[in-house]
Amino acid sequence: MVWVTQIIFYGLPWVEWNNRQAVLFDLEVRTFYLFNLVLFPHDLIYLTVLLIISALSLFLFTAVAGRLWCGFACPQTVYTEIYLWMEKLVEGDRQARMRLDQAGHSFQKFGKKTLKHLLWLGFGLWTGFTFVGYFTPIDQLGQAVLQASLGPWQTFWILFYGFATYGNAGFLREKICKYMCPYARFQSAMFDRDTLIVTYDAGRGEPRGGRSRTADLSQLKLGHCVDCTLCVQVCPTGIDIRKGLQYECIGCGVCADACDAVMDKVGYPKGLVRFTTQNGLQQGWSSRQIWRRVLRPRVLVYSAILLLLTVALFASLYMRTPLKIDVVRDSGVMSRLVQQGYIENVFRLRVLNATEQVQHYRITVQGLPGVQIESESRFSLEPTAARSMALTLRVPPGSSAAGAHPIRIEVQAEADPSLRATTDSVFMVPR
Ligand code: SF4
Ligand code: SF4
Repeated sequence: MVWVTQIIFYGLPWVEWNNRQAVLFDLEVRTFYLFNLVLFPHDLIYLTVLLIISALSLFLFTAVAGRLWCGFACPQTVYTEIYLWMEKLVEGDRQARMRLDQAGHSFQKFGKKTLKHLLWLGFGLWTGFTFVGYFTPIDQLGQAVLQASLGPWQTFWILFYGFATYGNAGFLREKICKYMCPYARFQSAMFDRDTLIVTYDAGRGEPRGGRSRTADLSQLKLGHCVDCTLCVQVCPTGIDIRKGLQYECIGCGVCADACDAVMDKVGYPKGLVRFTTQNGLQQGWSSRQIWRRVLRPRVLVYSAILLLLTVALFASLYMRTPLKIDVVRDSGVMSRLVQQGYIENVFRLRVLNATEQVQHYRITVQGLPGVQIESESRFSLEPTAARSMALTLRVPPGSSAAGAHPIRIEVQAEADPSLRATTDSVFMVPR
C-alpha cells in the first residue's frame, strides 16, 4: 500500500493529458482538470457527491474490516512507514538505533543523525512540492524552484506541507493517531462483533512464557505465545495487542506479521495474532463462517447506497454538457418601445465553454411569435473561457398581448449540434 499510494501521489501530477497536466486544480483560473473532465466552481455538486461517497466508503470498510484506512492508506501511517524505513536504512534496526541513541557524542553518530534528518527533510520538501504541483502546473513549478522564482504562496505551502510531513512522520508519529486524530474516537460506533480486527488468540497463546525450542508443550503447560514481545516492539502505536482490542490499534497487522515469523521459527501454526472477528474468535469459526457473517444487512445496505451513488455520479458526469449558460433580465430596462413600435427587452447572457477547443456558437430564441435577436447572435469562445454579453430581443408591435411571456433561449455549437444548452426567462410586453 505504501508503494501504491505513493506512486499515485508523486506520479499523477507528471501525467500529461491533451497537452496539459492530467490532474490539476488550477485555483487561479478556477478550473479543475481531471483527465478528460474540465470542471468549474459551479460543478461543486460533483465534489459534494464524491465526499458523500468517500464518507460512505469509510463506513462500509470500517464495518467490514475495522480501521482499514488507518492501517493501510492514511498518509500518517504511510509516511511514518517511509520515515521509519529511512531511519532503519541509516541507523540500522531497533537494537542498533537504541545503541546509537545511548552512545556518547561521536563523528559517526553526528554523521548518521545528520544524514537521517537530511533524508527526512528532503523527502518532506519533495512531498510539499508534489502537493503544490496539484494546484500549479508542476513543470512550471519545477522551473520556478530551479530559478529560485517561486511566488509567496507556493513557497509557503511547499514549506508548510514539507515541514508538516517531516514533523508528523519523523517525530509525532503514533501521537497523531493516539491523541489528535478524531477518527479513532468515533470508529467504535461503527464496529460490531462481526467486524474484522487484529486480535490475539488468548485461548491458544496463554499461558505465555519462554521455552526452549525442543521443550514439550504438554509438560510445560504453556500456550503458544513465547513472550518474545516482538509484536509490541514492532507496533507503530506502541501497544500490546495481547491486552485485547484497544482504541490505539490502527489495524495495520504489523504485529500479526511479526508473530507469524516467530511462529514459523518455533514451529507452531501461524495466526496467533491474526485478522478475525470477535464472534469468530470466541466461537472458533472457520474463515468461511466469518466471511458469511461479514456480509450482514448493515454491510449490504451500505454497499447498495454506495453503488447507487457511484453509478449516479458517473452517469451524471457522462451526460454532462460542457456548455453552461445563464440569463438574467437587465435590471435597468424592464421593457421599452423602440422605433416603429417594436417592443424590446434586454437580458444579460453568460456563456461558459467547458470544452478544451475553441467553439463557435449560435443563439436562438423560441416562445414568442416574431421574436428577433437584435444583439449579436453568433460568437466564438476560447477553450474553458466564459463571456458575459447583452442579449437584446424585439417583437413586432401587436404580435403579443400585454404581460409576461415565457421564452426559451438556446445556445448551440455550430460544429456540433449536440453541444447545446437552454435556459428559460420571460419577455415583458407593456400595456
Ligand atoms: S496492535 Fe498490531 S495491528 Fe494494532 S497498531 Fe499495533 S501493530 Fe498495528
Ligand atoms: S510476537 Fe507472538 S509470540 Fe511473541 S509475544 Fe507477541 S504474541 Fe507472543
